[in-house]
Amino acid sequence: MSQYNLFRASIYHCTESDRVIEAIYIPDGLMVVDNDSGQILEVGDYTTTAPKWPNSLSLKHFKDSLIMPGFIDTHVHYPQYRVIASYGTSLLDWLNTYTFVEEQKFSDLDYATTVAELFLDELIKNGTTTAMTFCSSYKQSVDVFFTAAEKRKLRMIAGKVMMDRNAPEGLCDSAQSSYIDSKSLIDKWHNKARLSYAVTPRFAPTSTNEQLTQAAKLLKEYPNTSDTKGVLLQTHLNENDEEIEWVKELYPESKNYFDVYDSHDLTGINSVFGHCIHNTDEEYRAMADSGSKVVLCPRSNLFLGSGLFAIDKLEDFEIEMALASDVGGGDSFSMFQVMNEAYKICKLNDYNLDPVKAFYLTTLAAAKVLNMDDSIGNFEVNKEADFIVLDLSATELITEKLKVAKDINDILFSLMTLGDDRLIKEVYILGQATYKK
Ligand SMILES: [Zn+2]
Repeated sequence: MSQYNLFRASIYHCTESDRVIEAIYIPDGLMVVDNDSGQILEVGDYTTTAPKWPNSLSLKHFKDSLIMPGFIDTHVHYPQYRVIASYGTSLLDWLNTYTFVEEQKFSDLDYATTVAELFLDELIKNGTTTAMTFCSSYKQSVDVFFTAAEKRKLRMIAGKVMMDRNAPEGLCDSAQSSYIDSKSLIDKWHNKARLSYAVTPRFAPTSTNEQLTQAAKLLKEYPNTSDTKGVLLQTHLNENDEEIEWVKELYPESKNYFDVYDSHDLTGINSVFGHCIHNTDEEYRAMADSGSKVVLCPRSNLFLGSGLFAIDKLEDFEIEMALASDVGGGDSFSMFQVMNEAYKICKLNDYNLDPVKAFYLTTLAAAKVLNMDDSIGNFEVNKEADFIVLDLSATELITEKLKVAKDINDILFSLMTLGDDRLIKEVYILGQATYKK
């Protein structure tokens, strides 16, 4: 019989069925983790659960702490680690002025390796244990990222940016080379350890029709089957007004921006679209019909002045969604701060984003967007024990505020409003201590 570790603390996670989210809060809880597999064996109340597991390898008791699932950041750009906090531009200028300049440095293997390591460590420090990231258009930028992720035993998703026009020559691939490079990366990394591949056309303006056709070919060659998960697709959609006008010029034959992807067979349950701020109803409907997923990036939308998303629309159309940082357009790695800004954007649209839903959108919902809710996102039995330990007395203000919290909703709302990386006391990957503040 395999051996197990015990973790005692307050525990929070949520479940969901038929679109009803259930918050599960155990004030004095116990989590049991299999030491070999890193999977959860049981989560329950300490007094009733502890007697069932008498021969543990160790018991860790975290006082004044809250254990919850690690955050899942479903849209982020690791090569933009040093682009974060770049002044004074909106999307298209920002790409040309900062991003395309920085991303060219990733042709240098050492540079790419350094940033991949810094990026992953920054995610961990912020309590993010899984992310789906864009790489640069250089194939080796994906290799170094997956190598660094594998070393840390992380569940990560990444892909080589496909971009064959409207970018500096040094960053452009071709339709054919982007297909060949992506395919060899998929064969090398997809479903290896905890890693998955996402086919990654940056966005419609930087790909030709021919390149989008090649991207669709990859999705078709690596589909979901009864025993394997297919590759995902990540890209951008309806982020900025200027961008949308540009797409109209570049793809005059398309009904709308979403139709550019839809007509190239790039939509469906494996496809994850970042932003979708300026979707028309026709686009929401087509997204819902195709089962495509949406990732909202509040901090990036505010930082670049792109606009305010509409969660109520996504709910009306029953489109699956999650929240994400979109660093470097986004200006924080902290998912607490992503939730904080999401709440404010919703408020401007006359919608109250309740804290249970906000935490759902950064954990279980995000796992669903990635088709990974069978392994991460909450603490159901057999899921992988990627969890974070929050220090509930991280700051004086948080300590004082939590004294007047009436219930778990109050606690969660205070954390998402006042919290950041200072809250992250420890991070566990597959039940093993990985980071300690
Ligand atoms: Zn992005």
